[in-house]
Amino acid sequence: MDKNLKLQTLVLHFLNSRLTLPIKPSTPLPNSLMAENRVSMPYTGHLVLFSYPYQGHINPMIQLARTLHSRGFFITIVHTDYNAPHLEPSPGFSIESICLGLSNQEAREMDKVELVLVLNEKCRPPFRALMEDLQSRKGGVPVSCLITDAVMYFTQDLAEELGIKRMAFRTSSSTSTLGFQAIREKGYLDERADTSDELVPDLSPIRFKDLPFVKTKYPDYFSLFISSFTSKSFRASALIFNTSDSLESPALEKIRPQCRGPVYAIGPLNLPSSSSILLEDDKCISWLDTQPPRSVVYTSFGSIAGLDSSQVMEIAWGLANSGRPFLWVVRSDLVNGLNTAGLPSGFMDQVGSCGLVVEWAPQKKVLAHRAVGAFWTHCGWNSTLESICAGVPMACWPQFSDQRVNSRLICHVWGVGAEMRREVERGEVEMVVRRLLEREGEEMRERASELKKVVEKSLGKGGSSYDALESLILQLMSC
Ligand code: UDP
Repeated sequence: MDKNLKLQTLVLHFLNSRLTLPIKPSTPLPNSLMAENRVSMPYTGHLVLFSYPYQGHINPMIQLARTLHSRGFFITIVHTDYNAPHLEPSPGFSIESICLGLSNQEAREMDKVELVLVLNEKCRPPFRALMEDLQSRKGGVPVSCLITDAVMYFTQDLAEELGIKRMAFRTSSSTSTLGFQAIREKGYLDERADTSDELVPDLSPIRFKDLPFVKTKYPDYFSLFISSFTSKSFRASALIFNTSDSLESPALEKIRPQCRGPVYAIGPLNLPSSSSILLEDDKCISWLDTQPPRSVVYTSFGSIAGLDSSQVMEIAWGLANSGRPFLWVVRSDLVNGLNTAGLPSGFMDQVGSCGLVVEWAPQKKVLAHRAVGAFWTHCGWNSTLESICAGVPMACWPQFSDQRVNSRLICHVWGVGAEMRREVERGEVEMVVRRLLEREGEEMRERASELKKVVEKSLGKGGSSYDALESLILQLMSC
């Protein structure tokens, strides 16, 4: 049996064993959309946007939606009932939810590779029903193009079956896409991929240990996932990246010849709006108002990363011992296997007003605040871009997947971050925080502020991201 067929048979078997819950039919369509859709259209076209249901994917997709809406397109946002964002319909902007029958508990019990396969499989029937409904609604606006997350690879085949154009939107770095490709095509799934300092051939300066490896019980499925999401994104009518040629030109140049359609690097998408799943705690802004300029280290490891309690202990005491003010996002599910983050007892009493812990912060506002001098980050792509847009240097502590590639770009290519060891240790935390906030961090801060200007230029009229967005809009208008 050929390797792909064997993998597909395996994955079907696996999915059958996981999909114990019946797939519920799609939720009834909201009336708001129907009313909106019947209006004869002053719009340039009707775009349906569909994200992978995680914060780091939803945020850039909503930013893209708002950007395209502001350019005259009617937008339908489709999201899953699992991890639904808080969104309001508005004129020219409608929201649809599809029902998956997937509980938070079930999702939590799956590893990340398993989950992405299950989500692709579970989304297919209700998403298909919704698309057929949108296409056939009497008086409705025909869909001109689908824009879906590259990770939701099932939408490529579906779009082809339904005769609708699909563009893929990759919400992470283009360099990480090449990293994924290398893992699969060159078979870098061995131990070396996790530890070696050796440079990956044709991918310098990425080292083997920077490859976007994801720990999984199912390496074959990981390989299948990579091949599905890359090959189907490359086959789409266009591939959109939330990045800029000014940041990642070498990787984009390697991807372009592999794609059937154009590749648009239109980022960083950085509108001030929010699409948080969790409630943002605004009190941190008034706390930041009381801190001196560039004195605070903002610490957050994004929406997915999980830590164990000994890591939380090291982070907590490292921050406290640095003697610098800190704002730390501790999600209620940050600690693996527990429902509470379990800060060390007496920690907040000892820290007093020098530190603030919140469950979820308005991150862009925080990074833009004059009191923030450094960002200790897990290097998720959105966090990376948001920090660059704010000109804030980073302490880099990647956990898995694309975060490792992004960290290498931050520290080695752009020189706006300090790499931290994988094993977190309070002494190192204390040292890195001080280094970034004190005189030693001055040079890095200057580079961060230069990089911010470079990126702003690419977004301004005549810049590469500006031009890419204009070309994307032209293509969308002709769909
Ligand atoms: N974020 C936020 N508040 C927080 C922590 C994160 O709004 O307290 C947002 C952050 O601004 C970013 C997203 O969540 O847009 C996280 O995406 P990223 O790609 O950085 O990491 P992921 O969560 O995908 O690992």
